[in-house]
Amino acid sequence: MKVGVARETAPGERRVALVPESLGKLTAAGLEILVEAGAGAGALIPDQAYVDAGAKVVSSAELYSQSDVVLRVQKPSESEVKVMLSGQAVMGLLQPLIDPKLAAALAEKGVIAISLDAIPRTLSRAQSMDALSSQANVGGYKAVLIAANAFGRYFPLLTTAAGTAKPANVLILGIGVAGLQAIGTARRLGAIVKAYDVRSETKEQAESLGAQFIVLKSVADASGEGGYARQLTPEEQAAQQKELNEHIGSMDVVITTAQVPGRRPPLLVTGDAVKGMKPGSVIVDMAASALGGNVELSKPGETVVTDNGVTIIAPDNLPATMPVGASQFYARNISALLLSMVKDGSLNLDFEDEVTKATVITHDGAVVAEPVKKLLEPAPAEAAKS
Ligand code: NAD
Repeated sequence: MKVGVARETAPGERRVALVPESLGKLTAAGLEILVEAGAGAGALIPDQAYVDAGAKVVSSAELYSQSDVVLRVQKPSESEVKVMLSGQAVMGLLQPLIDPKLAAALAEKGVIAISLDAIPRTLSRAQSMDALSSQANVGGYKAVLIAANAFGRYFPLLTTAAGTAKPANVLILGIGVAGLQAIGTARRLGAIVKAYDVRSETKEQAESLGAQFIVLKSVADASGEGGYARQLTPEEQAAQQKELNEHIGSMDVVITTAQVPGRRPPLLVTGDAVKGMKPGSVIVDMAASALGGNVELSKPGETVVTDNGVTIIAPDNLPATMPVGASQFYARNISALLLSMVKDGSLNLDFEDEVTKATVITHDGAVVAEPVKKLLEPAPAEAAKS
């Protein structure tokens, strides 16, 4: 079976689905690896490194006409979908819940779409395939470095002949995978770190990394399904914002990472909270996207400096800003998922398998993933018309 590694075409994307070190396991399983010329360029991996690791470098046209499975990081563009073939598989972070129409288009072409973001994350066997976690980890690390870079003072306590620098007070809001990495990174830089999450189980995790957990009186535990948070009621959210405001005012740096699956990210830092912050403070909103973010004044992909001198950064695609490290982790995740679906050198989809069932989005010309199918159903009013 031929496995192709696509060159990413999404703007700003510098990651690549496989790195040369990851090829050994795949070739040992009898897979032939084709790499689109320049696929590793964003991560500064030359084509020759893939050749040395046993791959063949091919043109884009050859990749899409010869591969049985195309591996990629981001979903394919419209023109890439056009050149894909019936019976071919594509594996990547395809975001079928955000872009169900892409799934429908792939199904129509007879392409088998396999999405890493649909992996059942609490299944211990799937941990090595969990690209959402590996990339969130990179994001949490990078968010702290960006904040430290934008902050006009030291993070650690420093005593020097020229005087003493006070340590920075950093608040991490949302203690999932990214938040935990952000706590660890800010602590390693010497900051005093506080952290908050609506899931009470995160208290111990935050404390074990050296953060002080903030307990709010207004919101009891809001754990939802599958280890995620549930959406707060409007009353809970208002009370949470009010109580958080009191903490935010005394912080030098706030990093927000809070997400609720399938929903707009919760608004945690209001315009009023920002008004209460000192000039020179920095906020990094990791949740910001076209859907909104955790910070009222953040603009996705931009840096805003408020009238009171607070810098609000809403970085786009943080993992792509650390392409080598992010690609190394991603390559391990996608290789593990692919190998779990390969038998005797060929793709062998067993729909009794939990991981296969969750991640295969389209098959035999149809969208087969139930949550995606639901999104594609016509709204009741439209259905009534037809
Ligand atoms: P996420 O990106 O969905 O959200 C980030 C954090 O934001 C979460 O901790 C969530 O509780 C928090 N949050 C949501 N609404 C909030 C609000 N109003 N106020 C404050 N915080 C809020 O989460 P994630 O990083 O993808 O992780 C989700 C869960 O999956 C976690 O429980 C994590 O431990 C779990 N997980 C488990 C495994 C595993 O078992 N192998 C692997 C990866 C992740």
